[in-house]
Formats: sequence, C-alpha cells, structure tokens
Amino acid sequence: MKCEALALEVTSVVLGASREFLAREGFIELLPVILAPVTDPLRTTPEWATVSAYGSSWYLTRSMIFHKQAAVRVHPKIFCFSPNVRLEPVERAQTGRHLFEFVQLDLEVRNAAREEVMDLGERLLLHILAEVRRECGKALAKAGREIPEYSRPFPRITWHEARREFGEDFELVLSQKSETPVWLVDFPIDQREFYDREDPERPGILRDMDLIYPEGYGEALSGGEREHELARIKARILRQGLSLDAYAPILALAEDGLPPSAGFGIGVERLVRFVCGFDHVRKVRLFPRVPGERALL
Ligand code: AMP
Ligand code: MG
Repeated sequence: MKCEALALEVTSVVLGASREFLAREGFIELLPVILAPVTDPLRTTPEWATVSAYGSSWYLTRSMIFHKQAAVRVHPKIFCFSPNVRLEPVERAQTGRHLFEFVQLDLEVRNAAREEVMDLGERLLLHILAEVRRECGKALAKAGREIPEYSRPFPRITWHEARREFGEDFELVLSQKSETPVWLVDFPIDQREFYDREDPERPGILRDMDLIYPEGYGEALSGGEREHELARIKARILRQGLSLDAYAPILALAEDGLPPSAGFGIGVERLVRFVCGFDHVRKVRLFPRVPGERALL
C-alpha cells in the first residue's frame, strides 16, 4: 500500500475511533466555526487571515477556544473537528509539524479540572492507538512502523524542570529522549495565552499542559483550565499588552457568565504523522497547505 493511502486510512480510523470514544464518554459533536469576529490571540503566530463580508472583517478561525467556552454553557461536554487557519511563518515549513491549514480535535468539559481532562486525553489517545493497531497494524508493519503499547498514567514533568534538565530546546529533547508520551505541565504565565487559567495557589503558574509524543515527534496537544471570570480575563488581556476592545465579545460573554471549564486540542495531522512515522505532516494530507508553498488543488 502506498504511504499516501495508508495515511488516509489511518486518518479515517483516527476520526472514527475519536468519535466513538467521545460519544461513550457523553460528549456531543459540534459543527465547526470557520469565520469568526474574534479568534485565538496566539502570540507566536503574528499574521492574521481575514475575509471581508457584508461590510465587516472576519477572521479565519485559529482555534475554537472561545466558541468552546461559550458552548459548554449549553452542553457539559463538547468536541469538534475544527479546521484552523494559522499563517505560520515560512520557516516553520521545515519543522515537519506545521501546516497553515490543519484540523484539531478540540474538546471542552464544563466544571472540569485539569486532572480530569489529562486522564481523558490519555484514555482517548490509547483508544485511538489500539484501534489504529487493530485496523491498520498490518499495513503499518509493512511500511516499517510499529507503535509500542504505552501504559497509563503517562509521566509528567513541569515546564521549569524540563527547562533545567534539557535546556532551551527542552520540548524537542524531551520528545527525543522519551519512550512514552509525556506531559509537560505548569507553564509560566507569560508563555501562554490570556485564557489559560492561573493557579490561584501558585501565582505566575498556569493550570495547563502539553502532551509530548515520544521519538522526537514533538507536541501532540495543548490544553488546560480556562480563565472564566470577567475581572481575571480583563487583567490577563491587559497583562499581555492586548486591547480590551479587540476581545470585547469575550468580555461580554464573561459578563453574561462563563462556567469554569477545561479542555484541550489535539492536532489530527500530527497524530497521524506520529502513527505513520512520517518526517512531515504534509504527507498526511491529500491537499496539504504548507507555509510558503503554492498548491495545485
Ligand atoms: P495549540 O492550541 O496552538 O497548541 O494547537 C493545538 C494543537 O494543534 C497542537 O497541539 C498541535 O497538535 C496542533 N497544531 C497547532 N499548530 C499546528 C500547525 N501549524 N500545523 C499542524 N498542527 C498544528
Ligand atoms: Mg500548543
């Protein structure tokens, strides 16, 4: 089987296994939002993609973070396969991990703490990997790829410990040295966005996490608890030097009342890349959108 067909089959199994698992856990699936008046600030991706329509400018959604926070007012457990457009700097085409259009499985749970969504993330990933092994194991083995069986709970390391131990490039080194998925937790407040919740007992530290794949494949998912109180959101927006006006829709939501929540987003292409053992996410998509490259279709 050609790698391309294998990647498409694996993707299809990943989507099916995720839906099946999350339905069993009581989640409902939302349809994605593509255009939005406000979207994820993502300070490390400074370019914004916009579309003008009916006299207004709309952002192409970079993540559904704010929609997820609003959605858990209506249903306690939601997920979405969310297409994201992020105009990543051209150099990121070389990382093997960046497309400028990709899909994340984005989920959120009302009143959840970080531990609950970390536990869910581990079980979700192990379920997906088991299904992929069952459905595509032979084809993957033919292509020279075998995914080990990992056990739970995955190890954890704090951002500060990882940096001390592995230096500047700690995420990559941690991923290269690890033989199992590993959690990176407790990011410093200025490393993340304003919606990541500060730990009330440890000022300056966030109640958030990334999951890092083994074998050098890097970041799998990011998530955590969310800031949901108006005053705290305002303070965090200002702390980051952003304008309150730009995030007025979020402030209006918070004023109306946002429940506490936690969740994460896991990149689908990166997951399939890891499963297939590819060097680049471009091999996962039939119509890849690689920063700086033109596409025929
Ligand atoms: P973030 O909230 O920025 O961490 O994005 C959520 C997840 O989406 C990440 O953990 C990655 O798995 C995936 N992701 C983020 N940016 C990209 C990208 N440019 N190309 C492919 N996948 C991405
Ligand atoms: Mg991330």
